[in-house]
Amino acid sequence: MITFNKPYLTGKETDYIKDAVANLKISGDGVYTKKCNEFFEKIIGFKKVLLTTSCTDALEMAAILMDIKEGDEVIAPSYTFVSTVNAFVLRGAKIVFIDSCKENPNLDVDAIEALITPRTKVLLPVHYAGIACDMDKIMELAEKHNLYVVEDAAQAIDSYYKGRKLGSIGHMAAFSFHETKNIISGEGGMLVINDDRFIQRAEIIREKGTNRSAFFRGEVDKYGWVDIGSSFLPSDIIAAFLFAQLENLQDIQNRRRKIWDTYDAQLKKLNGKGIQTPHIPEYASNNAHMYYLVCKDLEERTKLIAHLKASDISSVFHYLSLHKSPYYTEKHDKRELPQTDRYSDCLVRLPMFYELSDQQVDLISGRILEFYNS
Ligand SMILES: *Cc1c(COP(=O)(O)O)cnc(C)c1O
Repeated sequence: MITFNKPYLTGKETDYIKDAVANLKISGDGVYTKKCNEFFEKIIGFKKVLLTTSCTDALEMAAILMDIKEGDEVIAPSYTFVSTVNAFVLRGAKIVFIDSCKENPNLDVDAIEALITPRTKVLLPVHYAGIACDMDKIMELAEKHNLYVVEDAAQAIDSYYKGRKLGSIGHMAAFSFHETKNIISGEGGMLVINDDRFIQRAEIIREKGTNRSAFFRGEVDKYGWVDIGSSFLPSDIIAAFLFAQLENLQDIQNRRRKIWDTYDAQLKKLNGKGIQTPHIPEYASNNAHMYYLVCKDLEERTKLIAHLKASDISSVFHYLSLHKSPYYTEKHDKRELPQTDRYSDCLVRLPMFYELSDQQVDLISGRILEFYNS
């Protein structure tokens, strides 16, 4: 069976975990957390990063930092993971769902402005499959209407918009290191903060509402309860695992890009035959998070998935439209979001992981071409 995903281990993970355990500093913000921070801040060049236990937690921190309250409106795509918006719903926000583009599942930037009201507080672009949303337009609208921008960059490690790192453009960004992403720690995430105003409070929120981080830096002589917060920081054991992955970021990315390019070379000829292959706008780079096809309709997708399954190849669909979810359908304002529904019905993701061999990629592509040629 060719699985859809297989977590890749670089080989150093358990060494670093053993070392972290031997340090006897296995709660948060230990040696390996610092190494990860250094990697992201010094090598990658993010302004400020805080490791969290998940991207979901990073998004919840963002919602607290932006003081989201009952009735605030957040504009977000419906074609996304639940956590993108749930983090804001937890604080009382109303989600104003926006449709995806025809070209790819990213939010349709040209539809944003008509949805902005005096209650709108946040724009929440999701870089689907690690492909950048049109951030210049989003930031322009945010500035014009005085809104915050949170990038859901869960899938967007090592990806760029006009040469700028995804995650470095909005006021904040949330990344995921869940085992299905390019760089993993089992569960894990990170909040990136690009606006100085939020940095100090973010540390407090992450540390149960205390100024413990400032205390450990010697900036205050005792620490206490200064704000709301929760426990968002991961154990140093998680950071140790993550650091082993980060050291191999380029190697992991090179292999994934090779796989992605091999798929695309064989499958892009299907484009236009009622099938859509990934579209990467000129302003976006490709971090090879995902290779997907968009079928003509649900029936065709069901048949394609079954066809691949018959050859022991696992392919999977993705998000169900959130505006039609059991939880939100009554709260949604009834607008139709046809592109969202189309991706929900028609998008299928192909196996994509470091150890997928060239022969396996050829086999999968061959089976797909066979399906469409018969
Ligand atoms: C994976 C993912 C998340 C959630 O990440 P966790 O680390 O599992 O909380 C959120 N948004 C998007 C777009 C994702 O792909």
